[in-house]
Order: sequence, then structure tokens, then C-alpha cells
Amino acid sequence: MILKLNSPVEKVKGVGKSYVRKLTDQGFVNVLDLLLHFPVHYIDFTCCNKTINRGKEGLYRIDVKSVRISRNYKKRISVVRVYGQFFQENIQVIFFNQPYLLDFFRKHKKIWIYGKFDKRENIFQMINPKIFTDSSDRTVLPVYRFIGSLKSGHLRRLIENIFTALQDDFEILPRYLIEKYGFISIQDTLRQIHCPEKYSEKRIDHMKKRFVFTEFLLFHLELQKIRSVFRKVKRIHRYGFNDKIRTSIRYCLGFELTSGQKTAFNDIINDLKSKFAMQRLLQGDVGVGKTVVAFLALLVAKENGYQSAFLAPTEILAHQHFFNAKRFYRNAKIDIVTGSTSFKKKAEIKEGLKNGKIEILFGTHALLNEKFKFKNLSMIIIDEQHRFGVSQRAALYYKGKSVDLLVTTATPIPRTMLLTLFNDLQVSKIKSGPKGRKPIITSIVEPNKRNSFYRCQKAKIEKGDKAYIVLPLIEKSDFFSALRSIEEESDYYSNIFRPLPIGLITGRNSILEKERVLKAFYSGELRIIVCTTVIEVGIDVKDANIIVIENADRYGLAQLHQLRGRVGRGERQSYCYLHPSSNVTTSGRQRLEMIVSSTDGFEIAETDLKMRGGGFVSGFQQSGFLDFKVGDIKSDYRIFLDARRDALEIIRDRSLENDFVRDFLFDLEKKIETISFS
Ligand code: ADP
Ligand code: MG
Repeated sequence: MILKLNSPVEKVKGVGKSYVRKLTDQGFVNVLDLLLHFPVHYIDFTCCNKTINRGKEGLYRIDVKSVRISRNYKKRISVVRVYGQFFQENIQVIFFNQPYLLDFFRKHKKIWIYGKFDKRENIFQMINPKIFTDSSDRTVLPVYRFIGSLKSGHLRRLIENIFTALQDDFEILPRYLIEKYGFISIQDTLRQIHCPEKYSEKRIDHMKKRFVFTEFLLFHLELQKIRSVFRKVKRIHRYGFNDKIRTSIRYCLGFELTSGQKTAFNDIINDLKSKFAMQRLLQGDVGVGKTVVAFLALLVAKENGYQSAFLAPTEILAHQHFFNAKRFYRNAKIDIVTGSTSFKKKAEIKEGLKNGKIEILFGTHALLNEKFKFKNLSMIIIDEQHRFGVSQRAALYYKGKSVDLLVTTATPIPRTMLLTLFNDLQVSKIKSGPKGRKPIITSIVEPNKRNSFYRCQKAKIEKGDKAYIVLPLIEKSDFFSALRSIEEESDYYSNIFRPLPIGLITGRNSILEKERVLKAFYSGELRIIVCTTVIEVGIDVKDANIIVIENADRYGLAQLHQLRGRVGRGERQSYCYLHPSSNVTTSGRQRLEMIVSSTDGFEIAETDLKMRGGGFVSGFQQSGFLDFKVGDIKSDYRIFLDARRDALEIIRDRSLENDFVRDFLFDLEKKIETISFS
């Protein structure tokens, strides 16, 4: 059978039913998705160590002498110890929790290991290396980052299978650009990245550049398109501000607006009275009360008989807003649609939008689906805007004519960047939050204090405090280190906090599971949540007052500040504890000290930009604002600029005799969909 780049993953030989789910769960839908999962690393069998290079990763060929296993049932640990020889040197290789390797080493007497040797107990030891047997017939092996539970070896086999069946001459770049940059065909490029015959870092980098360039080029073309979307548009919808609205506002809110909120809301009202449709960005630090202002704007639309939509970046957040909105609007007809909404319910919503029964629709990007047509949409709120792709924003915008748009963000986007992205966006800033909140106390906890620290937290939680514990996601660079998975980590916390129950949220949980845990956390049934950074944006649990960030030095300043913003939302004194990694760098420590010394998001963002030094753009990438699949704005900045120049040229020079230009300018969304760059 022939495979194309857009063939679904289930067509690949070796992808069974269970793999399909694992892959699609992680966003790997078609063959190209898999092939864009580039190796993080290569093992070059022609380049094997002749002597032990202590403390540095490398490839060694060893003779196995004997192998032994010891188990500790109570701690559920097994240790496989391989005794062997490398040239004249006696060595030991140790594997934790991989008991099946016992048989492997009984069978294979000569193997390759990849990892680093250290001298312990007077002998050279290597812990949990990668292992290879002589049977592999390739001289260069790619190593992949896990996809869910799919390991590098699995992925290597799948990708080999792809290449035996792949026949696709799909091309996206015009010929003149391919020639200009010395690229080769997509299929050959991918083959050189995944199955190089000889290892050359330079060559592989050049191959990857093709995709980085393409991704950036698409981005810039898209950006130009968006700029035309954000043109000034004449207002169609008229709003009246009668007493009813004024009382509604008082009735809806249980509190007095802060002066920052009042000013922002006034800006909005002025926009709504002006000749042009509103295009406003509402900036403000986490927790200052942006969402409330957005709710008030929607109320104006509703009281004037218009429909509106509220778009949130994650399913959890959409539900949270929907939940709050039900209390806030009381008698409004509101509904919610997300990826997991049932078919039947979606049909109902579709009907409700068409006949005007639904006044405000909340949702995730599922709301953008073209089958949802509004009767008289007048206003759109986009919450935490940086999580949305530009084309999604445009799609929403086209749902109504001359729609009033309010975008909220906690990311302080510099003026220059705003002008690049949007032609004519007005900005309101809310500088400070509601009174009566106590500043969050932030401190650094040294690794040797960890156990006593957690004992102390346990006592506090038993007395009524509520805590998030945030663990880092396992990243590329950790591939060879012995970082444990979040599930294993959670055992550690269960033990410490016993008998208090802990909730666990990871990227692998379904939305229902996440919601269940969060609900229990809202209600107080659970008072500790162990999670990865899924809680980063917008989650609002008022009485959560402790956040512990493990390996805090791995995060950027902006992200740390976002995380800290999950607490300090209620009356209780809140705390943020930063745990540095054991091998924290000087700049890592500096970042933590910055977070301790400032609670001002704007000040932190400024410092962030200065500290990174790569120009203002890098700060956004960290925040997810410019999230690229293969490109990295910081290290590929030159290519980013090249792509920008080429994109502008393409658009300026419409006379280019090239279908490509026409395709891109008129059919961009479709193209993006089929090749799955976004
Ligand atoms: P943001 O969207 O800026 O992160 P939210 O709008 O979610 O902030 O507000 C954070 C919390 O503060 C919410 O629980 C909200 O109910 C509360 N809040 C907002 N404005 C006020 C106010 N003026 N007085 C008291 N509490 C407020
Ligand atoms: Mg918010």
C-alpha cells in the first residue's frame, strides 16, 4: 500500500488500534505529524568510544560477563546489574525497574550502550543507558522523544515502516524559493532527517531548516491576512445604555468595581458608541479582574437583544467561565460547546443559535465550527488570547458582520509587537486588583529542606489550607536523565500527605477526569492537587492559597508568574514556594530571586525580555503566543526574518507567475488544515 503525507496514522504498518489512540491523543493524526516529530538525537555507530570518557554521554561497546537482579518488594524497586568489560576495564551497568532486561542480557553477550560513565564504589558505572544489539543494520540510529507511552524504539520502527511505503511528491514551496535556499524535495528531506546514511549535524540542520522556514513563511502570510481582518470596520450594531442596564450591572455584581475596571469598562462603552466596531485588547495581570469586565460587556450586548460568544483557550476554562456566568447573569439564556459536547447537544445549540434562543455561547475553539451560525451576533470575547492561532481568531471574526471584539490577555505585549500583529487594536490596561487582597508571600525552598517543608505544609492543609503542587513536564533534554514520571512522583506525595487524599491532573487525563478532580478541589473534598502546568492559564479557585512549584528554575519568568497567579485570589494569606532543581544554574537562581522580589507582572515581563536578550519576541514564545511546531523563534530568528521578507514579497508582488501565491492568499486555511501546520 502507498502512503501519502496526509494519510491517517492508522494506515501505517504496525499501528494497531491501541497505538492509534495513543498517537491521536497526542495530536499525531497523519503521517506528516509523525514525520515532523524529529529525532532529538542520533547514535552514530561509526563513532564509538575507545576509552572511557567520564561524565560525558557517549557510545560504548561492551562484553557482558554476568547479570544479576535484586528486588525490594516493599518499595517496589528492582535493580538489574550487568557486570561487563570495556577493553581492559571492568564496568557495571545498572537498570532500575526494568526486570525484563535480565533475559536480554542472558541472551546478548556483546552490546552497545549509550550514556555516561561515572566512577562510584571504585568502578565505572552507567545508569539506565540506552542499549542496542548488533542486529541493527543501520550505522546511524535516530532517537526520539516519547509520544505518550510510545518509546523511541517503537517510533523508530513506525517511521521506518512509513518510509518503505511513502510516495508523495506534495510540494508547498514555490520552485524559486526551493532553489534560493538549496532545499530538496519534502520526502527526501524527511528521509535524510529520519534515516540518514551518514551522520552530519550540519546536513541534518539544513534539512530541518526547510520545515522551519515553511512554518515561518506560513505564519507571516497568515499574519498579513489577519492584518486585513483587523481593519477598521464601520459599526452596524447599535447599543443603548438605559437604566435597566445600569441596574443589571449593579444586580449582577456582588462587589464594587475597582477603578481600573471602571476605566476599562468606560473605554468599552465609548467603543460601543463610536462609529467603528470595537477592537480592544484588555491587558492586566493575572487576577486583576479582566473576566468580570468582559462579562459586563456581554451584558450590554444581551440587554440590547444581541447574541454574543465567549471563547476560552481550554475546556476547563470554558466550563469555569460558563459556571460563573450562570450565577452572574441569572436569567440569561446561555450555553456552552466544547470538543466533548455530544452530537445531540450540538444540534440543539445549532438550532438555538439560529433562532436566537441562545443569547450567550461559551466554548472552546469547537465554537468556531462553521455549522454554528448566529442569528444576530454582535460581540465576541476572546479570553487569554495568546493561546489562539491567528487563523482561529479570523474564523471567529467572520461569524458576524462588523462584530465588536474584546480580547483579554495577561501577557504584556509590547506596543511594537501589537502593531505588527494587529493594525488597529486599542488597549485598556487594568493596573491593580481588588482591594483587601494580601500580597502573596513567595520564597525559595532549598532541596535539603524538602521533607520538613512538606511536613509543615501538611499541618497547614489539615487546618484548612488548599495547595497546588506543580511538577515539570518531562522535556527533550531530560531524555537520558532519570526523571520520574508524574505518576511515580505522585506516590511520593501520597505518602507524605497520607491520610489526606491528593488529586492528580496530567496532560493524559481526559477532560472529564480533570473536571472531576477540579470540582472536588473547588468543593474542598480534595485539598491538594498535583499537576503539570495544565493549571497555568486562568483557573480560578478562590480559596486555594498555596502553590508549590517543583524544579521551578525550569520555567521562564512569565510562566512562573502565571503559575503564582493561581493563588492570592481570596481573603486568605497565600504562599508560593519555589523549589530549585538540584543542578540549578546561576541564571535559573536569578529568575527565582526575581519572582521572590516582585509581584508585578509587567515589571517581571520587562526583566524577562531583558534577561533573555533575544529581542522581545522570545518572551512571547515562552508564553505560548508564538507557538511553533518545528521552528524556534530564538534560535531560528534569522530564518524568521528571511521568511518574513519572502512573505512580504509574495504578497506585494501579486504578479508572480505562481499558483502558489494565489493558493496562499485565497485558500490559506484549507492548505494549513491539510498539511497540519498551524
Ligand atoms: P482575571 O481574568 O484578570 O485573571 P478575574 O476576572 O478572573 O481575573 O478575577 C479574579 C477574581 O477576583 C475572581 O474570583 C473575581 O470574582 C474577583 N473579582 C473581580 N473583580 C472584583 C472586584 N472589583 N472586587 C472583588 N472581587 C473581584
Ligand atoms: Mg481571566
